[in-house]
Amino acid sequence: SDDGTVAGRFMLKLSGEAFAGGGGLGVDPDVVHKIAREIAAVVRDGFEIAVVIGGGNFFRGAELQQRGMDRARSDYMGMLGTVMNCLALQDFLEKEGIDSRVQTAITMGQVAEPYIPLRAVRHLEKGRVVIFGAGMGMPYFSTDTTAAQRALEIDAQALLMGKNGVDGVYDSDPKTNPDAVKFDSLGYGEVITRDLKVADATAITLCRDNKLAILVFELLVEGNIARAVRGEKIGTLVGD
Ligand code: UDP
Repeated sequence: SDDGTVAGRFMLKLSGEAFAGGGGLGVDPDVVHKIAREIAAVVRDGFEIAVVIGGGNFFRGAELQQRGMDRARSDYMGMLGTVMNCLALQDFLEKEGIDSRVQTAITMGQVAEPYIPLRAVRHLEKGRVVIFGAGMGMPYFSTDTTAAQRALEIDAQALLMGKNGVDGVYDSDPKTNPDAVKFDSLGYGEVITRDLKVADATAITLCRDNKLAILVFELLVEGNIARAVRGEKIGTLVGD
């Protein structure tokens, strides 16, 4: 922060779909700029922020597989898609005057650093945003799992999951069921047994086994990223 104090370290998982704006595909620079502005504000307030961005605005491996492609290769396409989101966010963070580094799980030296955990932590300590790209670098995994794993490895105090168009976890899909009820808080076990849409099961069990709290909140509501890092009562908190 401006006075050098650290307010906390968080992992922010951003919906790839949100990056597309209304378009559904690709990157809408206006949306990315808006998100960058909000991240810049919390960094200026002294929070250390690491970011993982989904890739649903480009490719999902499972969807390409359904249309006849090899799963592993499709997953690599999915991972490469996430890197474009990372570069877009980096660009707008720079325009906001915030230093950032992209670190990718698949090496591509011209555009990003390789994933080096200790170096990522050093960047965070220096007030740089670290954006992790290309998922875990492994097919059959998700960016939710990546966000949980990276959060643990850099010792983040919580995983903040910014969702597109939904403000928390519900007992059924609020887009199709008008009577769906939102949870203020939830246990990991309930998320798994009721198959609630927080993140994939691999990500949830990783958080459960290591007691990493997850806050699910709506990403594109102005001020929500700041509310999330300050621990205000928004969204749904998943813990023990
Ligand atoms: N992906 C992968 N390994 C990872 C992270 C992502 O194979 O560690 C691929 C996978 O194909 C996924 C795509 O990248 O569908 C986009 O990632 P994301 O987690 O955003 O998928 P979504 O949640 O949008 O389905």
